[in-house]
Amino acid sequence: MAMSTMYPKFSTKTDGDNIIMEQKLLAKVSHLVLKKNVCTGCGICSEACPKEAIVLGLVGAVRRGAVTTEAPISVDPAKCSYCGVCVILCPFNALGLEVDGEPSLPILEQEGFPQYDITAEIDESKCNRCTICHEVCPNDAIIRDVPTFEGVDAADGAKRQAALTGKTTFVVDKEKCTVCGICAALCPALSVDRIPFYAETAKSLGDIVWDEKLCNACQVCALACPTEAIKVERAVESNKLPGKVTIDVENCCTCSWCEKTCPTEAVTIKKFFDGEISFNAEKCPAGCSTCVEVCPCNAIYLPSPASAVGMKKQKEAVIAVNKDLCIFCGACVNACPSEDVIRLKRTEIRVKGPETDLFKKIAEKLYVPRTSKVRETSGHVEVKKVE
Ligand code: SF4
Ligand code: SF4
Ligand code: SF4
Ligand code: SF4
Ligand code: SF4
Ligand code: SF4
Ligand code: SF4
Repeated sequence: MAMSTMYPKFSTKTDGDNIIMEQKLLAKVSHLVLKKNVCTGCGICSEACPKEAIVLGLVGAVRRGAVTTEAPISVDPAKCSYCGVCVILCPFNALGLEVDGEPSLPILEQEGFPQYDITAEIDESKCNRCTICHEVCPNDAIIRDVPTFEGVDAADGAKRQAALTGKTTFVVDKEKCTVCGICAALCPALSVDRIPFYAETAKSLGDIVWDEKLCNACQVCALACPTEAIKVERAVESNKLPGKVTIDVENCCTCSWCEKTCPTEAVTIKKFFDGEISFNAEKCPAGCSTCVEVCPCNAIYLPSPASAVGMKKQKEAVIAVNKDLCIFCGACVNACPSEDVIRLKRTEIRVKGPETDLFKKIAEKLYVPRTSKVRETSGHVEVKKVE
């Protein structure tokens, strides 16, 4: 049978964890690539797409791992104009666009489009490289280039402490020292070269040899010395671990976990959305916790029994959100299987670049307050807009 030569041609294929939508024109091939496992189901792309080419799928089930064959969204390759708006507005870097095999954002080249105006910075002069931010980041966006002292014996404090910039001084007052050797008996950093019972002076003679590399300035020798002949001092010039901690801004969703947990206030994060979010505990069935699992920012939690004490009503303890960590993405709204439990309203969208008419139209949609309404039986999640 003769193959059709009609253009454009559209197809969708899967390559590992990527779902690839293809548009083939006579002289150009465009691909929209969705990283299935990175997509959170926030639905921003679906709200923003000028061609209404993106629909939400079973966000909760996919993100919980109950459905592994699908992505939280699906894109119609024939409706898509391969403009790149969704790529620019996806807060989680889950989408990419290629034209003839090269990364491309046609909307930027053709009419311009703004990008999120975010700040995600670490002030190196304040950072002590504790790497707490690396541990808490839900997106693995913090790059930790700090030695881990792997292979160093746990008891070998001296080597670990040598990581700090500092200097240890060890001085023996020879007038006071009787070369009794008690310091060397206690410490592997010291050895005593002694001639005992020297007849001329009726004293021991010799030298105390100190190995700086083995000394961790614990001062045990000074405390043990019966004649108080030893003085040990440690000057720490910097309390920072060596290395560097940085933020990979491409993968930062501005959740602010790093900023909120940093002990030295070295991190500055400015979110791209501001807004309001609330949970109606009365309508939330206990034990569901889908929202907790899907939240890409780990902002939702089940209050502990301890924190529930003192709450007016027991029901209020079912679910809670830490608004400091919420980026108002909407994934929880899309995944929640109960009607009108979570309400979300964006109050600010921070962007930089040309705020084109297309962007203004999209922004209007993103500002519409949302609440959840789910019809999983039809295979689609329908998000009800709040009047
Ligand atoms: Fe769309 Fe959100 Fe998934 Fe990005 S993370 S592809 S914006 S649903
Ligand atoms: Fe919609 Fe443009 Fe994304 Fe295609 S590339 S899905 S048209 S926003
Ligand atoms: Fe620690 Fe803050 Fe530096 Fe991160 S930025 S390593 S939390 S001091
Ligand atoms: Fe990671 Fe959130 Fe900090 Fe960004 S703001 S680096 S995603 S912890
Ligand atoms: Fe040994 Fe501690 Fe004295 Fe250093 S300060 S020489 S480690 S006993
Ligand atoms: Fe997104 Fe906030 Fe909901 Fe988490 S709590 S899924 S960050 S809207
Ligand atoms: Fe489940 Fe919705 Fe309640 Fe979260 S808010 S626990 S998703 S019913």
